[in-house]
Amino acid sequence: MTDAAKKKIVKEIHVDLDKCIGCRACELACSSFHAKPRYSSTNPARARIRVVVDDLNDVYVPIRAGDYTPAECTGRHTHTINGKEYRECSFCGVSCPARDLFKEPDSGLPLKCDMCEDDPPLAEPMCVQVCPHDALTYEEREEEGGEEEPREELEIGLDALTKKYGMKKVMDTVARMAVSKKQ
Ligand code: SF4
Ligand code: SF4
Repeated sequence: MTDAAKKKIVKEIHVDLDKCIGCRACELACSSFHAKPRYSSTNPARARIRVVVDDLNDVYVPIRAGDYTPAECTGRHTHTINGKEYRECSFCGVSCPARDLFKEPDSGLPLKCDMCEDDPPLAEPMCVQVCPHDALTYEEREEEGGEEEPREELEIGLDALTKKYGMKKVMDTVARMAVSKKQ
């Protein structure tokens, strides 16, 4: 393997909580970019970023959607910020069975931040582009190590469905749908 082949591009979004004003422009832009067809609708319920907004305490925390997990975690820590307690779930980016966050509202399939992958690639992810206060900044850098194949959204969704319902039920449903489409 050549040195070039061993490099991988690491993409990161840095969040500066001191600059976030809770305007939620990032949620709107994300949902619009991922609408099908692209930009055809704006619905924050479909966004892969969610801003915890607490006006009274001036707390604004943008959280990006991470991985799907089939099991709810057992951690129940609380965070105290400016004298107010927040449950751990408030700041968690996982799509999990314990709550409806980071799930496609119609299908219930998990939503995950894909860094706005596009062809041709965007100069910066949409949430970063629209953030009016530079609370979100984008960084790309090279690191040692082979690049993993990015998982397709469809694959992540199917994985979640098979973990929830079992492979047989998913396959039977697809077969039934295929038959009804032909008729
Ligand atoms: S990087 Fe793209 S997909 Fe991820 S939260 Fe920002 S707008 Fe959404
Ligand atoms: S767009 Fe920027 S300032 Fe507005 S809520 Fe999102 S991260 Fe915060």
